[in-house]
Formats: sequence, structure tokens, C-alpha cells
Amino acid sequence: MPILVMKFGGTSVADLDRIANAAEKVKREVERGYDVIVIVSAMAGKTNELVKWVNDTSGFYDAREYDAVVSSGENVTAGLMALRLQEMGVPARSWQGWQVPINTTSAHGSARFVSIPRENLDSKFAEGFKVAVVAGFQGVSHEHRITTLGRGGSDTTAVAFAAAFDAERCDIYTDVDGVYTTDPRITSKARKLDKISYEEMLELASLGAKVLQTRSVELAMRYKVRLRVLSSFDETDETSGTLVCDEEEIMESKVVSGVAHSRDEAKITLFTIEDRPGIAAAIFGPLADAGVNVDMIVQNISEKDYDAAHSGAVTDMTFSCPVDQVKLATRAMEEAKAAGKIKYDELIIDTDVSKVSVVGIGMRSHAGVAARMFKALSAENINIKVISTSEIKISVLIDRKYMELAVQTLHDAFALESAV
Ligand code: ADP
Ligand code: ASP
Ligand code: MG
Repeated sequence: MPILVMKFGGTSVADLDRIANAAEKVKREVERGYDVIVIVSAMAGKTNELVKWVNDTSGFYDAREYDAVVSSGENVTAGLMALRLQEMGVPARSWQGWQVPINTTSAHGSARFVSIPRENLDSKFAEGFKVAVVAGFQGVSHEHRITTLGRGGSDTTAVAFAAAFDAERCDIYTDVDGVYTTDPRITSKARKLDKISYEEMLELASLGAKVLQTRSVELAMRYKVRLRVLSSFDETDETSGTLVCDEEEIMESKVVSGVAHSRDEAKITLFTIEDRPGIAAAIFGPLADAGVNVDMIVQNISEKDYDAAHSGAVTDMTFSCPVDQVKLATRAMEEAKAAGKIKYDELIIDTDVSKVSVVGIGMRSHAGVAARMFKALSAENINIKVISTSEIKISVLIDRKYMELAVQTLHDAFALESAV
């Protein structure tokens, strides 16, 4: 039997009626002749509640127990989905990560897949089970502890199963009917894309478009999984939603395909650091050791800043990281200073910034995208604090209060509302 992977996110399984609705979609695919692997998320809001319970119990918590707690939301949905399918006459059973087993690294809270052996599920399919309902987001380490994959990780579970079981397709059912030119919650002008390349989706996801977890797109690209995003609330068929696929499959595309945003960023500046070889390593080494995900970096080059008081050239270093890592970053810098590894006069933190990015493979062959972006932002009086670019994206850090306006402005500036 051909295998199909169907993943249902939190809003798609938010209550018993929605689980029943999702089960109907699964049943339809079984009737079409598929053996189906269903990956489920926890009911909407459940994981947040579990995370809060952990934080309210323990400040610097044991990550293994965090995983034990937060993985539990998916167990409930998997069992309920299997029960609902059985009620509908579909032979189904649930699987928790350790039962499959979904082997992962022991990096609790952000574990990565090591292997997903097929034997157990295959033998159940051979016995006549039509559906395996697998709890998303979780796995088991070689120490036999429960692990989780990071927020939004059920997408990645789905793609990993699609790769491991040579699934015909991996369908991600969610609360929007596809991938849009930007988050449809920010502008009603956002337009659904029929197709998007792996590379662009990877950039959009890593720059904040949370419709797919970044790692899921990485895996899909590596294993050539046909990945589709579609609505669990609409009637759907083979042509619904957005297909994430190879660039070659997309006939026409714009220079810019989408705008992404990441709301909760922070900007940290170290003032008057020494301008000497090795200073960047002395700063970013301790940050990496502390597990801070440094994103954008700017170092001021100021030859004239020779400063007698510091007996040498000095400069400033600015970097950005997620807001919730500011404490980690500050502690790492203070410790490095106390240990005499770096010197700085002042450490300034700005926690009211957001990142807005434009993404498009067309940028490889078109000049002037950055100029157009900056001009559009300046016309709205939006000040750019930090800029970073890569081959197919340009990101800017701006004050958070302008985030929505910036997304809308750039969506207009690159005429994303209309198709090619
Ligand atoms: P699920 O619970 O199904 O995993 P998520 O909330 O993780 O769903 O992801 C779906 C949400 O992603 C949408 O409701 C939408 O607000 C948001 N989103 C952000 N950027 C985009 C985009 N470019 N296209 C579609 N949705 C997007
Ligand atoms: N329930 C987990 C979360 O909310 C995983 C997921 O839904 O993908 O992050
Ligand atoms: Mg999600």
C-alpha cells in the first residue's frame, strides 16, 4: 500500500469535534487506498500551559523533566484520534515516541532525530491496521529518556516519518489554507502561493514564518519529501494548499516571494571594546558556549576612535538574539568581562525590536532589492537599526511598534498582492 503522512496541528485537534473532523479526512485517504501515518500535535494551548506549569514549578529546571511534562499533550491527542478512528470503523492505534521508537539525540528541548526504524509500524500495517497515529514533537534518547524537538516540532516529526516510510506525500493540515506571501494575520492582502521552493520556505520559516518549523523544511529538502500545507477546516483534494517543492517545478516567480517577521528580538551593544584581532572570537565564543543564538552582528569600524583612555583603538559591537535569551547573553558577557577576556564600558540592551525580512530566489539575479526595501521603509519613517543579507534574503531590525506597518509596507512595495 502507498503511504501518506497527515499531520494535524494544535488548532486542528483543539477539541473532540475537531478531532472527529480530522479523523474524517484520514478515513477518506484510507478509502482512497493509503496506509496512513497520522502525526498529531497537542490540543491548541496545551503545550503553552504545560510549559508554564514547568516554569512555575522550577526556575532553572531539569530539561529531562521539562520534556517529560511538555511531551504529554501529544499523547492525549494520539489516543483520542485512534479512538475516534476506531469508532468510525477504521483499524487504528496510537504510538508514543518511545514505542515506535523515534530515536533522538539527548539534547532535551531541542532534540534531533537519530533514527526511526520501520519494523514496528510496518508489522502493524501488515496485520491490517490502516492508520498509525503517532504523537508528534517527541522522541526517546539512548538513555531512555523522553525528549522533545523544540516548539512546532510536530511538523518535523511528520516530515521525518514521510522520509523514513517513503511516503507519497506529507500533508500538513493547519488553520490556514496554505503558505501565504506573508502572515495572513498581519495583512488581508496576503496571497496564498500554489507552490514555493524549499529554499524560500526554509528562509521564511527560519526568519519567523511559523507555519512550518524550520527543521521540517530542512529535512524535506534533504530527503525530497513532497510537502504540502493545507487547511483542516476546508474541503480539500489533491490540488489544495501550497506545495513546497524544487525550484525547477515553479514556472514563474517574483523577485521577492514573501515577507517574514520575527516579533521578539533583542539588540545588545557592547560599547568601547578593544579593536584588535581576536576580539570577535572573545565575545561570540562565550555566547555560543552559553547557547545564545546570535543572529545579526554589526561592528562599527571607526579608525579615528583611537582612545588614549583605553590605550588603543576602540569600537562598538552590536548583535541580536531572541528576547528570551537576553539574560543568558548578559550573564555570558559579564562573566567574560570578570574573567578579563573582554573589556567594555557599557552593555546596552534593547528588547523592543523585531526583525522583518524579504525573501526570494529572484534576488540572485536582480539588483536593487535592498534599495527598494530601504526606500519603502524610509517613506514610512521606519528607522533601520541593523541590516543583514544573504543570497536570497534581506533582514532589518526595527522598533517593534513598527513591525506590522513594515510588513504591510514591504508587501505593497514588492506588489505581492498580485500574482506574476
Ligand atoms: P499549527 O498549530 O497547525 O502547527 P501554527 O500556528 O504553528 O499552526 O502555524 C500556522 C500559522 O502560521 C497561521 O495561523 C499563520 O498565522 C502563521 N503564519 C505565519 N506566516 C505565515 C505564512 N507566510 N503563510 C501562512 N501562515 C503563516
Ligand atoms: N505541541 C508542540 C508545540 O506547541 C509541538 C507542535 O505543535 O508542533 O510546540
Ligand atoms: Mg506549528
